[in-house]
Amino acid sequence: MRWIGVTALLLVSRLAAAQVCPLSISATDLMRFEQQTLQVDRQCTEVEVTFHHTGKLPASAMGHDWVLTKTADVASVANAGMNAGLANNFQKPGDPRIVAATKVIGGGESATVRFSTAQLESGASYSYFCSAPGHFSIMKGRFVFNAPSSPAVAANLPK
Ligand code: ZN
Repeated sequence: MRWIGVTALLLVSRLAAAQVCPLSISATDLMRFEQQTLQVDRQCTEVEVTFHHTGKLPASAMGHDWVLTKTADVASVANAGMNAGLANNFQKPGDPRIVAATKVIGGGESATVRFSTAQLESGASYSYFCSAPGHFSIMKGRFVFNAPSSPAVAANLPK
């Protein structure tokens, strides 16, 4: 009986500590992300990114995705993804350098990806980018984890 009580207590405290932080980002037919930086507070245990394509062109012509890697891996992951083709969302299947990624979407569509912040190394530099061929040099931004609380971060915390 005593063990059951302890387990239940642990479960409750773990649930209470879980903090899913929603982030929103959009991209256009002009091949750009509307947000140049996404910030995540250190209290977030999970991040849920909702990616909107606010343009009108189909995925075959101007498809975008949202891919998160270490900043140093952006170019090599993008180049590896180019050969994977649209069927694989221009992401090399099973690429361990990809922390999180949405599928490629066309104008008017949106996609969501949820991931744990436990896999982010503190102190490492992370960036997000679009892996559609030729897009990453323009379509990229900084992903800041452990950002000090700021109005920008607070706006993304669960209400
Ligand atoms: Zn793109």
